[in-house]
Amino acid sequence: MKKTINVTRSSMPSYEEYCEEIKELWDSRWLTNMGAKHQQLQSELEKKLSVPHVTLYTNGHLALEAVLQAMNLPAGGEVITTPFTFASTTHAIVRSGLTPVFCDVNDIDYTMDVTKIEKLITPKTVAIVPVHVYGNICDVDAIQQIAEAHGLKVVYDAAHAFGAFYRDQSAACFGDASMFSFHATKVFNTIEGGAVCYHDDTLVKKLDDQKNFGMSNAEYIPYVGYNAKMNEFQAAMGICNLRHLDAEIAKRKAVVAQYRSHLSGIKGIRLCPEQPEVISNYAYFPVVFEEAFGADRDAVCAALGAEGVGARKYFYPLTNTFDCFHGAYDVNQTPVALQISERVLTLPLYADLSMEDVDRICDVILRCQK
Ligand SMILES: *Cc1c(COP(=O)(O)O)cnc(C)c1O
Repeated sequence: MKKTINVTRSSMPSYEEYCEEIKELWDSRWLTNMGAKHQQLQSELEKKLSVPHVTLYTNGHLALEAVLQAMNLPAGGEVITTPFTFASTTHAIVRSGLTPVFCDVNDIDYTMDVTKIEKLITPKTVAIVPVHVYGNICDVDAIQQIAEAHGLKVVYDAAHAFGAFYRDQSAACFGDASMFSFHATKVFNTIEGGAVCYHDDTLVKKLDDQKNFGMSNAEYIPYVGYNAKMNEFQAAMGICNLRHLDAEIAKRKAVVAQYRSHLSGIKGIRLCPEQPEVISNYAYFPVVFEEAFGADRDAVCAALGAEGVGARKYFYPLTNTFDCFHGAYDVNQTPVALQISERVLTLPLYADLSMEDVDRICDVILRCQK
């Protein structure tokens, strides 16, 4: 039996480091509700990301719902977004009483095609929710320009982009707000967790109150809220993992370089180019198999699976084809996203993936070529 290689493997501090971090909780008996660890992680993140405000959540999905709902966007308002993303992005929009309008992605880094946004704007458009997919940074300058010209809010799904920088600014700095996911599978994790990063001072108290049942204090409840607080054990994991973030990203970078050395320049294999002026977080390694490769994505995925290698069809299917939407959206409106979703595979990528394993994975892939 060959050794199995999962598509990802969670980053963790040493057992001793985590135990040391959580030790105080046995004295304080303060396990959640914005305790000392929560406050510490929040301020460490504000510093690390150079953003004025970070609000922490129990997961990234609720963080995205929270910020959309805190912006007082009119019910039924249209939100321009992309279908080439995780279910969460589209679901957060719909669950916030807003209507997703799907913009296609570009053919290079698979982020929102900014040349196609303006055609989708109507009098009902209220916001743009682009996705820094795979950690690729969207064309934030063009998106900002369009948003300002049309008076639209911009909320980035930055779930993939923690630790990435564009022109020396962290991915937290763009638009009106950015959502990060700190799920176990992401570059930086708090087991489960998430954050909203933003500049607007007036949102701080509102987001804090809303995630705590809408309660401003014990007797004043100005919002119909929910419970989305990050607990102390999550925050402690984040404090530990943050110490090792730069080292983890450096190891990911070496893994990606090894993949590129095997797979660049192969006929029918398309890789995302490195983005100019971006410091990458090396979150994912997507590979697109074009016709010229001779074996399609599903065949390569099956061949890897037979060797115990868990590659992932990420993102497939597109969110605008989900059964829950009962055919409300026309997938042919986003032809590039459709094509990429049918041809893309993300390969295993994590800090401790060995070079030998990368060699073996590439070997299996290259043997599929016809
Ligand atoms: C992981 C992810 C989310 C959701 O984050 P959770 O922390 O798992 O709730 C949202 N959007 C994208 C693109 C993601 O990859």
